[in-house]
Amino acid sequence: MVGKASALAELHNEIANCQQCDLAKHRTRVVPGEGAEDASIVFIGEAPGWHEDQQGRPFVGAAGKFLDELLASIGLKREEVYICNVIKCKPPENRDPLPMEIKACQPWLERQLELLHPQLIVTLGRYSMARFFPGESISKIHGKSRRQGDTICYAMYHPAAALHQQSLRQAIQADMSKIPSLLASAQEIPETGERPQQLSMF
Ligand code: URA
Repeated sequence: MVGKASALAELHNEIANCQQCDLAKHRTRVVPGEGAEDASIVFIGEAPGWHEDQQGRPFVGAAGKFLDELLASIGLKREEVYICNVIKCKPPENRDPLPMEIKACQPWLERQLELLHPQLIVTLGRYSMARFFPGESISKIHGKSRRQGDTICYAMYHPAAALHQQSLRQAIQADMSKIPSLLASAQEIPETGERPQQLSMF
């Protein structure tokens, strides 16, 4: 029987070989995601940047350092959660992902969430927000949560946006501080196996 751990490792291998869009031509390494196989919380960012593309790991540059600090502020280490992105390959010149790239990559994110089935999904920035809070704007929805299936989805600003802008930095720190109580509420939801509704981002 294939266990959960090896199923996730196999999925990472499949993602690492993806040729579904032109980003495959420009990447150094694919960045599938990383973290605990049994994580209760999944953080979803936008797309790999230069450092991530070099190392094949999510959030290892300046935004990642800030994310590590935010996690530490609530007593978590990155190994205890799962971190991934909407897009698994770096867009050229760090441009925004194109709709067709998001569409091509979306099945990978869905399969990751299907396997991990976390209690809490935290979206970082507007691209992952669009998957769980369609039609919303990040400035209105950040710090708010919504139950979808037996999972709680929670929107936050992207750490990169908050890195240099003091007001966003305070907002993201305040939003992060609500995660322990949100997780406690999420853990009280009986597990029904019902997943967040699968919405197309486009
Ligand atoms: N920004 C993201 O959205 N993801 C990363 O992995 C790094 C920076």
